[in-house]
Amino acid sequence: MLKLYNTLTRKKERFKPISDKKVGMYACGITAYYSSHVGNMRKYTMDDVIKRVLLHDGYTVEHVENVTDVGHLAGDANTTDDKMRVSAEKQHKTMKEVADYYFGIFSKESGLLNIIPPGKFVFASEHIDEMLALIKRLDEKGYLYRLNTGMYFDTSKFKEYGRLTGSTFKKLNAQLKAGARVERVEGIRNLTDFAVWRFAEGEDMIWDSPWGRGFPGWHIECSTMSMKYLGEHFDIHTAGVDHIAIHSSNEIAQSESATGQKFVNYWVHHEFLIIDGRKMSKSLGNIYTVQHVIDKGYSPLALRLFYISGHYRQVLNFTFDALKSVENTLNGIYAFMERMSDIKNAAVNADSPEFRKRIGAERRAFFKSLDDDVNTPEALSRMHALISEANRRASSGKLNRSEARTVVKAMLELDDVLGLDLAKSTGRKAALERGVQNLIDEREIARVAKDFKKADQIRTMLKEKHHIVLEDTPEGVRWHKE
Ligand SMILES: [Zn+2]
Repeated sequence: MLKLYNTLTRKKERFKPISDKKVGMYACGITAYYSSHVGNMRKYTMDDVIKRVLLHDGYTVEHVENVTDVGHLAGDANTTDDKMRVSAEKQHKTMKEVADYYFGIFSKESGLLNIIPPGKFVFASEHIDEMLALIKRLDEKGYLYRLNTGMYFDTSKFKEYGRLTGSTFKKLNAQLKAGARVERVEGIRNLTDFAVWRFAEGEDMIWDSPWGRGFPGWHIECSTMSMKYLGEHFDIHTAGVDHIAIHSSNEIAQSESATGQKFVNYWVHHEFLIIDGRKMSKSLGNIYTVQHVIDKGYSPLALRLFYISGHYRQVLNFTFDALKSVENTLNGIYAFMERMSDIKNAAVNADSPEFRKRIGAERRAFFKSLDDDVNTPEALSRMHALISEANRRASSGKLNRSEARTVVKAMLELDDVLGLDLAKSTGRKAALERGVQNLIDEREIARVAKDFKKADQIRTMLKEKHHIVLEDTPEGVRWHKE
């Protein structure tokens, strides 16, 4: 029973996919002219968490994410240069070389953050024909007009323009007019209008079109590629909050004008990350990447847990002190997993149905929190409650191996969504232990049945084959490696 906050309606809504168990999810991705910083990576990590919640809820997720390698203008006012082109010229490289380089870094760092790669990464420059087809549809329906700089979308013709911002076409244009620093494109009909195709000369990432040579606008790229792979009407579209007013709004305007039907059912917008209480900026020198975090000695999964500790719709304040504390927490969780995998006193302690009930309740509460608009901070508190329960019982010496296994199993299920690689803390010992423990259990049964010959045989075999020495203690059988 997943509920998601929908920017379109400004409320949490019960999630109902268009087709039964399959979810189409388009994530606005990187513009590949710089190394994504920790703020960008927060968005992709939380997209991953949302996807994992859907997967855990039994959906299959068709996750498509774009890589913008052309057309993302440096300013929103349509008057400035393509960010990719500026970067390529500075580096004396082609735009494709620049895009491939930064996409490579992005892929590597996404992997370190344990982000499940999207089913498809789609590059803008590989979908020019489809973009031209969409622009043609808009042109034929009369939504476009021609200026010296390109083909523009007339936002006054889309009745619902600005709906995502909770405003209207009229109000938005009045606001822009009142704003002090508006760069006005010559001849533009409305300040909210935007280019779907920009005229340009040259060779690198420039194409012929029925309107003239040039390159696509950034917004048309996302409309085109999302609809190509997910259909003209699909379930979830994610982006940063900074894109609500322009990028997402323009995508809706183009897509719905072209198709005449609703574009996206659920709009998910992620909040910003700030650094030491301040906005990230070059002048403050506080733009960190995942690599910076690693260079300072932190694990990328600590960064992942740090992201998850905040709700995706709330501003999250990144500090290295906070990261340090989260890393300690994460190491504590790993140690807990090892401890739970280490519980051996099989035949001694009676099972506690109440204990199992409490573990089950925390497990359910964890997933219930996630179903409530992916409330990860609340979910984490339930995980910590589960850990405390198990630790309490273990410390009193009552936890038996079967209960510990239940705890480990529950934690690994939570980790399906958290993605903190908790299995690694059980895997090392678990495989060996399973085999050894079975033998120890067998010996215990033999001993209780007073079959001392068999019990001794097992003890000898463990020692000779596995170099494992058994110790009978009042708490049960303990073992250690020779
Ligand atoms: Zn986009």
